[in-house]
Amino acid sequence: MMKNYMVAFVLAFFVFYTGNAQKTNYKVSKTTSEWKKILSPEQYYILRLSGTERPFSSPLNKEKRKGTYTCAGCNTPLYKSKHKYNSGSGWPSFDRAIKGNIAADVDYKIGYARTEVKCANCGGHLGHSFNDGPRETTGMRHCINGDALKFIPDIP
Ligand SMILES: [Zn+2]
Repeated sequence: MMKNYMVAFVLAFFVFYTGNAQKTNYKVSKTTSEWKKILSPEQYYILRLSGTERPFSSPLNKEKRKGTYTCAGCNTPLYKSKHKYNSGSGWPSFDRAIKGNIAADVDYKIGYARTEVKCANCGGHLGHSFNDGPRETTGMRHCINGDALKFIPDIP
């Protein structure tokens, strides 16, 4: 009996420990003051403090050119313009991210579970994903703060 408890405890500890290690070991890691040096106050608020910009405030809402949306913190390519669509939410929306470059987490900030979307390279908060996206493609809606992104137009 005691032995089973020990096994369960060790397992729980192992799961907790490795889960945590994944969350904090980002390739790009900076101190608060280093982030503040390279980010605007709006970018810092969203990426590092998990803030949300006002809806319809980002010029990227209306961005229709072909190109790539990168992380404003570490320049990792996150979204392609061909996966952007107009969700009407007031935030840039995409039906999928560039594979492997975003990480998902769960947050309970407003009382229920939402899937938080983060940059896999620096851990910067980008926004949330919901399953009310376009049904004809992925069904997913990545609701992303424009201030967390930089747009790099394709060279024609
Ligand atoms: Zn990043």
